[in-house]
Amino acid sequence: MKFDKFKANAIFLQPTWSCAKNCNGCYVKEKESKFGSEEMDYSIWTWIFQDMIQYRAGNNRNIDTKQITLALDTLPKTSARHKMQEIANSYLSYVAEEYDDRHDLGFEKRTEYHMTVNSVHDLEQYDFYHNKALDLVSISHLNNADEIYTIKDYFPNAKINYNVMSGDFAKQVKSKGIDHVKAILRNVDSVYYLLHKAPMGLEGHDFNAFFEGLAAINLFKNPPQQQTDGQACPVPDLASKFIFDGCMNDAKYFSKTGYGCSANVSRFQIWPDGRVTGCAYNSHNQYGKFAESFDDVLDNIRDAKTRYEFSTCTIPSGLKEYSTKKHLQVVT
Ligand code: SF4
Repeated sequence: MKFDKFKANAIFLQPTWSCAKNCNGCYVKEKESKFGSEEMDYSIWTWIFQDMIQYRAGNNRNIDTKQITLALDTLPKTSARHKMQEIANSYLSYVAEEYDDRHDLGFEKRTEYHMTVNSVHDLEQYDFYHNKALDLVSISHLNNADEIYTIKDYFPNAKINYNVMSGDFAKQVKSKGIDHVKAILRNVDSVYYLLHKAPMGLEGHDFNAFFEGLAAINLFKNPPQQQTDGQACPVPDLASKFIFDGCMNDAKYFSKTGYGCSANVSRFQIWPDGRVTGCAYNSHNQYGKFAESFDDVLDNIRDAKTRYEFSTCTIPSGLKEYSTKKHLQVVT
């Protein structure tokens, strides 16, 4: 089948439905409970990796993306554990091979390789070796600063991003104390501060926790007199490591300009059955076909580009309503 090269900025990969956790409001579990547990074969994942990662032969990829993120879920004790390990190992070995090729043959770097994981404990359950090719690990729970060194033992060149849910961050500061959290923040490269969202298109985003949690971030701002600590070099302001939820920024931008987010334009999510959405939180809609081959995945991703899921996203209207009610200058 002839397929024009598909270009994207970011592609997220959700390999299975089998995460052992059952987190409240998980989009993956929601989608599975609504549409079933069918999963594409392991071999199709290897095709996806081969196509997106391996470019020894030059420019012949079908999918050309600037960033790939693999979700590394909590391993269950069931037989699904093996498939999840195999997919993760396959991803990392393609990434390592591409790294070696790039360095041996002088190719330019075209893609960033990321992984998301819930905790260091979850990471340790996978049988990974030292891998210097991964660019970023996003982790949702850090008990202490030492855990960051465990991640770096596996992935010495990866930046560490701390993915915090707005309500949970304020709770962590309260329960563990500011110095404990400071030690963590000093050792991560960034902190992604997330809005707890309802599935895309539904109501129920937790704007309250998002805005109330901002007070906790302010605790990490240096007071003006401490910004240089009497030294020539400024003391790093830990609050500057925070990156705010992209959907919130997109919603604000939409209210000012009428331009929506990049889901379906340059960002896509491949689900365990090979179906594709633009929005990673779009668990309540089903598009495309179950993938029995890599070509089916290509059809699904091409089809996803013909939609614009943001048109039913409720974050912009929810944020506007919340700002008006609370008299915030967020979207005006
Ligand atoms: S459509 Fe865009 S803004 Fe809305 S939840 Fe999805 S990614 Fe976020």
